[in-house]
Amino acid sequence: MGVFSELNDQYEEVVYFNDPPTGLRAIVAIHSTALGPALGGTRFFPFETEEEALRDVLRLARGMTYKSAVAGLDLGGGKAVIIGDSRRDKSEALLRSYGRFIDSMGGRYITAEDVGTSRDDMDLIRRQTRWVTGVSSQLGGSGDPSPVTAFGVFNGLKACAEEALSTASLEGLRVVVQGVGKVGYALVKHLVEGGAVVTVSDVEVDSVARAVNEFGVDTVEPEKAHAVECDIFAPCALGGIIRDDTIPELKCKVVAGAANNQLARPEHGDALAELGILYAPDFVINAGGIINVADELMGYDRDRAMTKVKDIYRTLREVFRMSRTEQVPPARAAELLAERRIAGVSRVQLLYVPGEHRTTLRR
Ligand code: NAD
Repeated sequence: MGVFSELNDQYEEVVYFNDPPTGLRAIVAIHSTALGPALGGTRFFPFETEEEALRDVLRLARGMTYKSAVAGLDLGGGKAVIIGDSRRDKSEALLRSYGRFIDSMGGRYITAEDVGTSRDDMDLIRRQTRWVTGVSSQLGGSGDPSPVTAFGVFNGLKACAEEALSTASLEGLRVVVQGVGKVGYALVKHLVEGGAVVTVSDVEVDSVARAVNEFGVDTVEPEKAHAVECDIFAPCALGGIIRDDTIPELKCKVVAGAANNQLARPEHGDALAELGILYAPDFVINAGGIINVADELMGYDRDRAMTKVKDIYRTLREVFRMSRTEQVPPARAAELLAERRIAGVSRVQLLYVPGEHRTTLRR
């Protein structure tokens, strides 16, 4: 297949790592280093074909550029995939081999956890390279990002309530949280403490039971969660929940949650806007995780990370303002915000500074 045709004029670099003795076959994609090194997780997944792996890593790398840019981070966008079954094919040797390859990129790409990789894996990679985040706290890492992500979503929901419901408080609002895993559970805690009336759903009975026992919340069947009449529907499970068959059944005023890729297709954002449902772009409201791991690059400080995560409230306010004034759906407004920041800041980075030695490629 033609790799260059897949890249068109959008991507900076794609690197293939091949180490037959360990079985390592990995692809790293750098979409942009305009704002800084490209940070994004490593997905360990049994892709059926190389084409599928390449398409996924390219799509995800581009998404990271936008997520970090809109979060105000000095980071570009990149992502990596390791082709294989993480339960069967993962080994210390493979991960350390992968770490050496990452190291050879000299910091243009910085990795982190993703589907199929764990904090322990990051610790192994750390033995070969410093260009890894999400390592354990003993190694200076930031630990599980989920509570931080939930805190960011909670702050983002306040911006949504102000925009769509004319209230700065979540008290008394009816919120349906779909998926009470690591992020959803922590979000429910914030919501209940903030006085919201919460309904939860999950395909795991134990996860539902935990939320009910600890917070006394209501429940709904997983397949009906999106159709409950409420103020805010908060997808915190899988992506693709906002799609052709679910949109007509929505009875909420706001869709805002942690799940990645909530819109099955970009035009579903327009469909929500036409129905008068406010959508908080997922890559804006769920940026707590990346903000948290990015802080490791400065020597992790939880208070500093949490302060920055709180800014998700202000960022969303700005996204909604742009959406109103420029008459575009919030998802497009968020992309514009990211694109303008990249254009503005990367130009400043290019200004000539006497004596400065540039080692990174900038666009
Ligand atoms: P998780 O696996 O801990 O939780 C997901 C939960 O959703 C599980 O309890 C699962 O049983 C449940 N679920 C799956 N299908 C469901 C369905 N159809 N209906 C209801 N529940 C269902 O994952 P997480 O770390 O809590 O992440 C949740 C979402 O947020 C994911 O989309 C993830 O990509 C995204 N996200 C997470 C973070 C983070 O810091 N963990 C950061 C950014 C984005």
